[in-house]
Amino acid sequence: MSSIEEFTQAKKAKGQVIYKPIHTLYARPSSECEFFRVVEEGGSYMAMCMVLGRYLTRDEVVKCENYWKTCPYRKIGKRMMEESNP
Ligand code: SF4
Repeated sequence: MSSIEEFTQAKKAKGQVIYKPIHTLYARPSSECEFFRVVEEGGSYMAMCMVLGRYLTRDEVVKCENYWKTCPYRKIGKRMMEESNP
């Protein structure tokens, strides 16, 4: 388990309501953000942000794919990682 996984372990999307029309993706998403995770289920996909601890909507995934470098949540995640691993 990576340190990112350990860091976010307590923040996983417990009990999040998945609304298929806004969360399901029919092509595998891709982002260079280290906090971006993809879950495959029955030929479709969902993406999760390990900082937010929840699945992302389709609109959010597009931002993670294209604008991950400037994402404010990524900055928060990186800072929290640094603080937990001085
Ligand atoms: S919301 Fe930001 S921190 Fe979370 S996966 Fe997307 S780019 Fe990364």
